[in-house]
Amino acid sequence: MAFLGNGYCSSGSEGEDEDEGMEGYRKGGYHAARPGDRFAGGRFVAQRKLGWGNFSTVWLAYDTLLNRFVALKIQKSARDYAQAALHEIELLSAIAKGDPTNSKNVVQLLDHFKHAGPNGHHVCLVTEFLGDSLLRLIRYNRNKGIGLSRVKEICRSVLVGLDYLHRELGIIHTDLKPENVLLVSTINPSKDPVRSGFTPILERTVSNQYSGSVISFSEKMLKMRARRAVAKISLRRESLGGVAAEMEKERSLDGISLKCKIVDFGNACWGSQQLAGEIQTRQYRAPEVIIGAGYSYSADMWSFACMAFELATGEVLFAPKTCQGCSEDEDHLALMMETLGKMPKKIASSGIRSKDYFDRHGDLKRIRRLKFWPLERLLVQRYNFTEPDAQGLADFLRPILDFTPENRPTAAACLKNPWLN
Ligand code: ATP
Ligand code: MG
Repeated sequence: MAFLGNGYCSSGSEGEDEDEGMEGYRKGGYHAARPGDRFAGGRFVAQRKLGWGNFSTVWLAYDTLLNRFVALKIQKSARDYAQAALHEIELLSAIAKGDPTNSKNVVQLLDHFKHAGPNGHHVCLVTEFLGDSLLRLIRYNRNKGIGLSRVKEICRSVLVGLDYLHRELGIIHTDLKPENVLLVSTINPSKDPVRSGFTPILERTVSNQYSGSVISFSEKMLKMRARRAVAKISLRRESLGGVAAEMEKERSLDGISLKCKIVDFGNACWGSQQLAGEIQTRQYRAPEVIIGAGYSYSADMWSFACMAFELATGEVLFAPKTCQGCSEDEDHLALMMETLGKMPKKIASSGIRSKDYFDRHGDLKRIRRLKFWPLERLLVQRYNFTEPDAQGLADFLRPILDFTPENRPTAAACLKNPWLN
């Protein structure tokens, strides 16, 4: 939240906030889990924390019934959080039901239940265990951009997921961003419990947690984990290996599987019953959402294009700020127009907030002078793309970044784009 400052659906998960802080651990808040804790009548055993969000902490857990590792999302207990989790379960159940072979690149819900703890009753979701987010992949690569062939591969995976959600199920994700797309495998094999031969923790005693059974983790990692288990609630969101350490040395992306899945349906909605007026994390927010003109599946496509740009360049496409005399929204609209050209007057005037930002000519009221810097030129001049590469990527992205939502290609149409194939 603090990171994005939009006060809505984004999380500080992989932004500036490195952990979820102590404050959330109170009545109505997070459940303080520890390695070895059992859930659902003993079936699932917590192993280590994988991440956190504004709504939950997510743990690697061991399923003792089916002998496999899973991800356990433990929601905060207050009523609104519980309701949000039940909504997420409803959507994830439909997603799983429509994809029995688990081939649509959307995370699979395996189970759900309630867990009673000192802070209240927590709705818990069990999903398949996945790897690092695309944000981590971008950072792993030191924000240099991951190369166009990799971008294309990831785009194909995400589009398969979006096409399934939009066309087959009628679900709008509403918070698509690099953080909410997870690689199926971890970047570092030692973080994968299966590939690293990690022996599951089954008891909740400190001596057992770090016994010889976890030899695949380095000594340093073990010490770090032990320290963190003691100060359990100040664990970093992504426990093993910090981003800072990863920034130090240069690494190749060769050999990393780019298969990925869309996660986090906490804000998703049915296309037929849109809930919140304001959706999406700031940088990935579509213009129609900003001006309050309603939204549909095409809002996800806008976020998708922003994400593809970020994968290719390592930098967010639009990073609006509040400036003197103008709001973040206005700066955002100005940035869009500088890259994509002027917004058609008909669109600019179509929202309930249009009059706040635009005059009757369809010009921004408070930001008068725009510095036009089209996508292709941006890619060449700022990110050193070759002309043909820049043109290919810009030609793919520009139609998806159409100000008129109805003009944007669908996920199915994008999948047919020769640039991806
Ligand atoms: P938000 O504040 O973004 O709404 P949230 O509380 O709804 O967050 P998620 O975004 O679903 O929680 O998950 C939080 C983090 O946990 C993710 O960013 C990711 O790092 C990790 N995570 C979630 N699901 C999985 C999974 N299936 N496998 C591995 N890690 C996961
Ligand atoms: Mg999230």
